Amino acid sequence: LPKEDAVLRVDDLQKSFGGLAATDHATFAVERGTITGLIGPNGAGKSTLFNLISGFYEPDGGTVEVNGTDVTGMEPYEVAEHGLIRTFQTPRKLEGMTVREAMLVGPRNQPGESFVKLFATPGAVSESESANLADAERILEDFEIDHLATQPATDISGGQMKLVELARAMLAEPEVLLLDEPVAGVNPTLAKKLKDQIRRLNEQGTTFLLIEHDMEFVMDLADPIVVLDQGSVLTEGTPDGVRSDDRVIEAYLGG
Ligand code: ADP
Ligand code: MG
Repeated sequence: LPKEDAVLRVDDLQKSFGGLAATDHATFAVERGTITGLIGPNGAGKSTLFNLISGFYEPDGGTVEVNGTDVTGMEPYEVAEHGLIRTFQTPRKLEGMTVREAMLVGPRNQPGESFVKLFATPGAVSESESANLADAERILEDFEIDHLATQPATDISGGQMKLVELARAMLAEPEVLLLDEPVAGVNPTLAKKLKDQIRRLNEQGTTFLLIEHDMEFVMDLADPIVVLDQGSVLTEGTPDGVRSDDRVIEAYLGG
């Protein structure tokens, strides 16, 4: 599939842990404007791929390109500066912060980096905080979680935490947003809300790469869908194409 306007290109990416190739010559691209799904059995290497793309892991080989720039080996905050933000399968606990404060931790940076910066340079952060307060309030309202703004970020449900994580990522206004299992552990009402938000943001121009175990969720939302198996791209296609592909069915049954 030729992709002339790719916002993300992964080429021959490799990463091993001990003797295990978690990422094994993975190659694919994400076309600008799409919601691209990334599926595969447990342990296929989906989260590892996100860690490699976003600079949290350093690859053993291969390259990652964001918006035409080679970002291989860059730090997470540098990758974020090139327009790529990711969320985590398990959102990090934001101890001692309200939801609103958690929202304000470091726009334009990967959450992990900015979290460190907040403590390293508290004075420097407060200025950008005030500049982004209005945006944070607006996004909390968009996500219908503004009533949680003053609650401790550790006191909300797992599903609400996932919404806050997505809202925080959106505050950074990324061109491409990588979501790692956004509806895992989220109740159906919140999952529906999340789906609507992803669609709305996509219509406004954000490109998504979406890992999701919930097949119905990902098949309904994403097109195309990239299938990962044992660290490599097995195939890519439309939801219907992938669903009826014997190799995909086999990979899931075998995994
Ligand atoms: P998925 O997200 O598709 O379920 P992962 O990327 O989490 O898969 O894991 C792929 C493989 O890499 C698994 O076998 C996992 O145990 C291994 N793995 C992932 N991260 C690490 C790590 N930091 N250290 C050692 N092994 C890892
Ligand atoms: Mg995973």
